Amino acid sequence: MEHQEALAPVATAALREAAERIAARLRSALGAARDTPTVARLRAAWPPYEAMLEEIGRGGAAAPVLETGRLEDLCRLLGAARLTGTVRDDLAYDGPRLRGVLAEEYGFLAALAPARRLTELLVALGAALRERKRVDGVLAFDDLIAEARALLADHPAVGARCARELRAILVDEFQDTDAVQAEVIERLASPGVPLFVVGDEKQSIYGFRGADVTVFRRAWERLGGALPLGRNFRSQPAILDFVNGLAAGTMRVPATSPDPGRWTVFDPEQRLVADRSAEATRPGVSLVTFAREHARRSLSAAEARELEARVLAGVITALHERREHPVRFGDIAVLFRALDQVKAYEYALRRSAIPHYVVKGRGFFQCQEVRDVASLLATIADARDGVALAAVLRSPFFAIDDATLARLAWPAGAARPALTRRFGSDESFADLGDAGPRLVAIRDLLRRLRALRSRATIAELITDALAATDFEAVCLTQFQGPQKVANVRKLIELARGAERRRFFTLRDFVALVHDLGEREPREPEAQLVGEQDDVVRLMTIHQAKGLEFPVVVLVDLGRRLERDNDTAVIDEELGVLVAPVAGAGLHPQSQAQLEAYRVRAWDRTRAEHARLLYVACTRARDELVLLEGKGNNRYLQSGEGDRYVWCHQVWHLLGREPLAAFVAGDAGETVLPVPDGGEVRVTAAARYLERPTTEPVGAPAPVEAPATDVERGFVARVLAFAPPPPSEVVTSPTALADFRRCPRQFWYRHVIALPERGTGGLRATLLGTAAHGVLEAVDLGTTGDADIDGELAARPETLVLRSGELARLASDLRAAAAGIGAEIGAGLEILGREVPFVLPLPRHQPRVFLQGRIDVLARRGGRLLVRDYKYAQPSHAAVVAHADQLAAYRLAIAPDAAGELVFLRGGPAVRALPPLDVEGQVEALVDAGVALGAAMASGEPSAFPKRPPSAVVCARLGCGYVRRCWKPADH
Ligand code: SF4
Repeated sequence: MEHQEALAPVATAALREAAERIAARLRSALGAARDTPTVARLRAAWPPYEAMLEEIGRGGAAAPVLETGRLEDLCRLLGAARLTGTVRDDLAYDGPRLRGVLAEEYGFLAALAPARRLTELLVALGAALRERKRVDGVLAFDDLIAEARALLADHPAVGARCARELRAILVDEFQDTDAVQAEVIERLASPGVPLFVVGDEKQSIYGFRGADVTVFRRAWERLGGALPLGRNFRSQPAILDFVNGLAAGTMRVPATSPDPGRWTVFDPEQRLVADRSAEATRPGVSLVTFAREHARRSLSAAEARELEARVLAGVITALHERREHPVRFGDIAVLFRALDQVKAYEYALRRSAIPHYVVKGRGFFQCQEVRDVASLLATIADARDGVALAAVLRSPFFAIDDATLARLAWPAGAARPALTRRFGSDESFADLGDAGPRLVAIRDLLRRLRALRSRATIAELITDALAATDFEAVCLTQFQGPQKVANVRKLIELARGAERRRFFTLRDFVALVHDLGEREPREPEAQLVGEQDDVVRLMTIHQAKGLEFPVVVLVDLGRRLERDNDTAVIDEELGVLVAPVAGAGLHPQSQAQLEAYRVRAWDRTRAEHARLLYVACTRARDELVLLEGKGNNRYLQSGEGDRYVWCHQVWHLLGREPLAAFVAGDAGETVLPVPDGGEVRVTAAARYLERPTTEPVGAPAPVEAPATDVERGFVARVLAFAPPPPSEVVTSPTALADFRRCPRQFWYRHVIALPERGTGGLRATLLGTAAHGVLEAVDLGTTGDADIDGELAARPETLVLRSGELARLASDLRAAAAGIGAEIGAGLEILGREVPFVLPLPRHQPRVFLQGRIDVLARRGGRLLVRDYKYAQPSHAAVVAHADQLAAYRLAIAPDAAGELVFLRGGPAVRALPPLDVEGQVEALVDAGVALGAAMASGEPSAFPKRPPSAVVCARLGCGYVRRCWKPADH
């Protein structure tokens, strides 16, 4: 908010200056103008406009809409009097919008009030969001960095503790670091921890998430002593020649740049030098040009994309099938700037039977089968949701035809729709003839699922519905059936993941899927092939960062950069900037600071765009293929147009004239040299099309064909997939003890991580973690209260604990340390703390390994002693519950070791455990481990049955899932 206040005088002064200038110019223009009728009209109207200019020059922006209207009137009068040229830079129309210094400075002043209101709203939203996250105990990704920075800045003891554990810091890809991350690193690195960073400014491409080349340069200057790495061990020389030539042309600061520091300048001294020798028999770089197609006829953006997709399929087929050096599908990566149009390319590859994998694509929530399952869940969640009910009745779940649905929803003679009412009653649907019994069965199934919803997980509900309706079998009979089935199974996994969050209900999931269906987030369809299979990978350039591929195909080179025309932005220095609006909010007006922001943003975008092309090209090891997509043929002919479009930059490098000559001819291929070394093979796109390109490019006709072996293989793979039985089970003693107590509890707690009611929750975990951390850090033999308090203050958990909890914890820990100190004085010998162990149980199939850490390993009177701390009150039930865990620890150390539980809350209370029944314990652990392995291999919830016989027994065990497992009547 301070920004807006600080900007008000600046805005007023700038507006005054602009208004005075335009008034002076008009006065002199009117004095010199011939006395035509329009000039006479303007002269007559001029005094009120001059007064208006004086008024707004004084900073009078009380009625922005009115003022804008008067500026528009003035502009029209100037146009009629042919005097626009006099003030063109100050006030003129640019399309429908008033632009020029006066309009923009006026807009700047008028926008301060709405900007202030928006700032207040954002501040309130931020505070509410922070509070909500605090209450829910969650952190967003950004919070992880911001909170780490705040922790290190506000609590030097934490920083010092972290620094003690570090000998040096090495940061790779430092050019992708933002200012906050850099501060975290700097705070950890000082004092006394050397910092070494690796990075390449030319590869800084994460501006959208805050990465900043100036951060990299500052680190460089601060650290000094750079070691240049000019030798490239990845790409063959032909590719590096091309990349060097391209970078020399694209990485230079434009004369008009408002912020030259954001640009990376190519240093000829740092040309990439190949470590590999030239591979004379293989082409290095190819450009597939579409200029002939675009010269022949004007293609829409969608047609051009479909054409490029077909050519891409042809290029990949040619690479794969060529006689010399054929390329495996798995060695090809297709790189995109963004995956928003990837469906067109996927479709073309599918039609050409090219196996492919989209890395984190989109479109999952728009798939019909996903929407069908979402409709089913919506009608289970809310029986009054008529739209969801109609959708699910029509879907492959129940396949009710439209005529029946219409009669069902609106019976003859009824005054209003009756779908949900009829499904809510017990009627027999007798008026619907043969469909009646089916509808009764559907209604019964929906009722059964609704009755189950408070006890079953969402995944269980879906699975149950799929089994009852044969939905997946129906999907398999349809086009892309295996894909549909895989998508449904992916949705089940997403439901499992969603339920791991606290307070996440069926209604929340329905709303989430619906919302994601509207927004089309980055969520790909389920993959029928894995990324590691022999498949072509489709991914963004950002996803390819840090990777390399034998062959890279870079598509859509002709794509134009999108300007950022947002009407509200947050500037790093000026805060919130908004465009004022006129005409009931329908017409955004020009605004000086926003225009300046857009110019800066556009400049940064172009600077990063140059680096993005560099990153894309340097992913290729042996071959780089460039697909032009839709360039601007006018640029090829005359150089007119946007010189920042990638394909224009490639044309520029190769020379527009020779390229235009190739396009004008009918040769299928030519080779053009790259200045300063290297060459590029240029081929015509038509070479890769199965059909003559003179045909209009229309929508592809649907194809009906019997299933191929490949498709059958997919079906078998999806349906019959059974993971191999594990040869090993590795788990912790605590988890195995849970499984022994109740497999269903293990499933909830350790597999799908459902939150539990009434078990102390997050605060208990924090207290326990802090207590263990302090007792691990202090010297138990000599520690004093100050040491305990110091270690406690350095624990991050203490930042969120309440003062009363902290005081009790400190007092308990002091008492515990004093007690242990006394025991040490009496002969207790501490051998180790937080001792890691792995306990291999006797050979069996699968082999069971238990792993964990022992709080304290000690010796007393010549006998080994295993201890475990619990930040809890002592109780018989707690001793019984933890005895199995201690048994595993004792078996790991020595079967005759003593075992003790130390309860810390309210002062230390030691509970010794009885001698170990070694044989019985080993047998029980092996049996439980083998059963756990079998259950995990199945992966089905049914493999984790409930064990205690009743809700009463479960409640006595202190389980937090009683409400989930048992009906209320059983409690
Ligand atoms: S409530 Fe009972 S059956 Fe359900 S998970 Fe807990 S212990 Fe197992």
